Amino acid sequence: MPHGRALTSPSIVARIMRENGLSFRRSLGQNFLVDANIVDKIASAADLEPDECVMEIGSGIGTLTVAIAPLCARFLAVEIDRNLVPVLGANASGFENVSVIQGDAMKLDFRGMLAGGCDSSRPRPWKVVSNLPYYLTSPIVTRLLFCGAAISRMVLMVQREVALRMIATPGSDEYGAFSVACQYKTRPSIFSPVPRTAFMPAPDVDSSIVVMDVREVPEYPVPDEDLLFRIVREAFNYRRKTISSALKHSFGRERTSIAVASAGVDPGRRGETLSIAEFAALSRSFGMEFAKAPPEC
Ligand code: SAM
Repeated sequence: MPHGRALTSPSIVARIMRENGLSFRRSLGQNFLVDANIVDKIASAADLEPDECVMEIGSGIGTLTVAIAPLCARFLAVEIDRNLVPVLGANASGFENVSVIQGDAMKLDFRGMLAGGCDSSRPRPWKVVSNLPYYLTSPIVTRLLFCGAAISRMVLMVQREVALRMIATPGSDEYGAFSVACQYKTRPSIFSPVPRTAFMPAPDVDSSIVVMDVREVPEYPVPDEDLLFRIVREAFNYRRKTISSALKHSFGRERTSIAVASAGVDPGRRGETLSIAEFAALSRSFGMEFAKAPPEC
């Protein structure tokens, strides 16, 4: 089986697929990397020490797996497609530190899988590397952000539009609940643009490599994250309305007006213009209001 950079050769990828009776499954977002420079960029963005551990989501035939496994202590390769798993296993067979896990990234217990770090004598958080299946980008990223697993950095290939949503600032068209979640939990940045030609088959969209450094503590911590994200969702569900009228649907008129005032937020502002600091202030104010009496139904 070919190793290393051979897996970025379009003709070798085509041959592997043909010889194993496989076809690219669009429904599973199977656009494999066939650009060695982009593979190198992802590896360099991961900035790995030899004693670190990596989980890859959606390993495909193992192109990133075989490039990154030699750079770290342990590598978990997660792939949903049962037909690809034997090919992935064969391509990664030269690497004793690689474990292949057949499973659905929307169902696996990441927290349990990554518990204790990769070396129980010297626990360190994991890094996640993934050329994500684009049909599931936001749900998988959201799961990774909120699953409670010990992760220090994520290096993710995403559609360019999603990358722009991750780093969006208040008031911009791209700013939404997903931006707040990404920036509350991590420091996201765009590492590199990626052309369509880097993939086989080429997708219909441009891509970006995004680096997300997970915050050990949020910049604006709140006592109740569920409440914070309930407020954020409501604000963006009614993004063209003022924050007071967006929140009164869920929290009641009187409580909303007291909480918005005590958070120091202008009630006439649109929710889509609020910063994370302001959402956090609102969440703390609503928390205090709820402590006084049960929420209105
Ligand atoms: N890592 C390979 C590469 O860069 O060439 C493949 C990346 S491809 C964009 C996405 C991979 O994710 C596919 O192999 C696909 O089968 C897999 N996948 C799709 N949905 C998945 C899910 N829910 N859980 C785990 N893997 C999934």
